[in-house]
Amino acid sequence: MLAGMADEPAPHIAVTSPPPDDAAIVVQDLVKTYPKGPRALDGLSFSVHTGTIFGLLGPNGAGKSTAIKILTTLSRPDSGSAFVAGFDVLKQPQNVRLSIGCVSQKSGVDMESTGRENLALQGRLYGLKGSALTSRIEELLERFHLTASADRVARTFSGGMQRKLDVAMGLIHRPKVLFLDEPTTGLDPEARAELWTEIGRLAEEGLTILLTTHYLEEADRLAERLAIIDRGRLVAEGSPDRLKSELRGDSITIDLFEAASEQSIKAAAARAIQITEVRLDGLQVHARAAHGASALPALLAALEAEGVKAASVKLARPSLDDVYLRHTGRTFEEAEKGSA
Ligand code: ADP
Repeated sequence: MLAGMADEPAPHIAVTSPPPDDAAIVVQDLVKTYPKGPRALDGLSFSVHTGTIFGLLGPNGAGKSTAIKILTTLSRPDSGSAFVAGFDVLKQPQNVRLSIGCVSQKSGVDMESTGRENLALQGRLYGLKGSALTSRIEELLERFHLTASADRVARTFSGGMQRKLDVAMGLIHRPKVLFLDEPTTGLDPEARAELWTEIGRLAEEGLTILLTTHYLEEADRLAERLAIIDRGRLVAEGSPDRLKSELRGDSITIDLFEAASEQSIKAAAARAIQITEVRLDGLQVHARAAHGASALPALLAALEAEGVKAASVKLARPSLDDVYLRHTGRTFEEAEKGSA
């Protein structure tokens, strides 16, 4: 719900610097430090083209929610600026609120009301009434396959149905930009896949979507472009494919039977000439090669010659986890653990 939010605007402030292009979202050098807390955003900048899905990807604590709160006018930055749907979030918050839909991590669904009642309440908050409201509700119920359950109280909905109702509520006033904060957290794989399909369809119809997620697979699958953020800073930006192609090469993971020395691993990698990078991490060897399948036999033979025995081997195309590792020096999983 966006009515009556914090940080009401000072009246009649002129817009001084409009967004630089047709981007639906422009974020320029946002800094935010919480009182007695960490620097949550440390000079974050990115922009989102109209009608695309942009993923803000980062481990827990990276600053994603803080960025969303600023863009949806719920919080103010210490410095920097941001524009949403052409409006300045600091100087024109009311216009921003009318142009956006928000689905936050915490559900906005009233569990004791029916699906239809939830949508009606949300619609009235945006001034919809009469047949316009009724037909919009029916349209959304149908679109999210909730018509048959529309008159049940939301408490009886599955997690996936509640999430879909949340998204439908965020769309009631036909916003231009939709913010989805960790939309599939807590959903089972089937419900997650169903929501992904719906989100993809919304973008095909021209909606701009800013999605935050800590699921690499979700960003990979949905986002046309994404920004990887770490400790409030942007560490990489681009399409998932371009980010992965920058790594040039397949990743090879070898589980060892027993501990080996770093020296023997390096010697084996040097002997197996196609290997471009190698790292020993406990009982695992991580290596990279332009063509993993052809490099692998030589690497295994070279390890054997060094007296290092492999228990199992995994070969994979570069993943977003590799991209994250490259830019931050730690894996996504390690970063998640570090923030816990
Ligand atoms: P994310 O959404 O990526 O998990 P957040 O934006 O929630 O990250 O948090 C960024 C950092 O700011 C974290 O270190 C978090 O603990 C801190 N933080 C978030 N909200 C508050 C708050 N209200 N007060 C103090 N610290 C906060």
